[in-house]
Amino acid sequence: MQKVTSVTEMRTLAEELRSKDQIIGLVPTMGALHEGHLSLIRQAAEQADTVVVSIFVNPTQFGPSEDFSKYPRDLEADLKRCEEAGADIVFAPTVEEIYPKGYSTFVTEEFVGKPLEGVSRPTHFRGVTTVVAILFNIVRPDLAVFGQKDAQQVAVIRKMVQDLQFTVDIVTAPTLRETEGLALSSRNRYLSNNQRLESLAISEALRYAKGMVEKGELRSDRLIAEATHILGEKRRVRIIYISVVDRTTMEAMREVVPGQSLLAIAAWVDEVRLIDNVLL
Ligand code: AMP
Repeated sequence: MQKVTSVTEMRTLAEELRSKDQIIGLVPTMGALHEGHLSLIRQAAEQADTVVVSIFVNPTQFGPSEDFSKYPRDLEADLKRCEEAGADIVFAPTVEEIYPKGYSTFVTEEFVGKPLEGVSRPTHFRGVTTVVAILFNIVRPDLAVFGQKDAQQVAVIRKMVQDLQFTVDIVTAPTLRETEGLALSSRNRYLSNNQRLESLAISEALRYAKGMVEKGELRSDRLIAEATHILGEKRRVRIIYISVVDRTTMEAMREVVPGQSLLAIAAWVDEVRLIDNVLL
């Protein structure tokens, strides 16, 4: 496995691979890799000849009061994990490589990214689409793998790819969870034992709502009421949003359409912000 930090070197390498007809798979990450990220790398390895994992804590997707400077970083451990999971190249540029002095161009998707995360994090997806567009232009991958855990992110990126006519296939990988149900996230390491226990209410609420749908309940307000009740029993948990939405557009749905809807939750567990969702 090769580690690359320069944009020019990454671009040259990718061009060489393309000239040899290698299918290139890209897995964009912010590092602090866990099994969820590794499952994306394995998925990419199944579909591509060469897997590029980018590790870049992207400053433009953090709000002014968010955790950019204290976001967990552990490149040495990440490199080992990437190699074990089957990555061929790790692209770990500096902030200056991606955003040189005077950088001033941003990509904004203006519909799918507006609700849910877009309400409380109004500049978040602008940072995500911008960095993903830059990565696509450097690596020019045939496919890129994203986690269903960040359902709105996947929807926003699919819309950007469609609107800007990128030729990359977007592959979605299922959410990996701990045995008790908590979705794996780099931010879970901020949780104390008590917070971790209370955060289980999020996946429990999603599971319960999914069960209701399987028994025939399709009304969103009823699902949301039950899920809210489960979360309301935990004193550390404060709901930011809970919504049944269309998987592609992120528009709110009054009724579940099986195969087309998802239930999304964002909540504070004390000062840790967690998101999760379930396909309905
Ligand atoms: P991040 O490093 O948090 O930006 O995440 C990088 C990629 O890993 C994104 O596509 C995420 O959706 C994905 N990811 C994060 N957590 C999980 C998880 N628990 N299961 C599957 N994919 C995940």
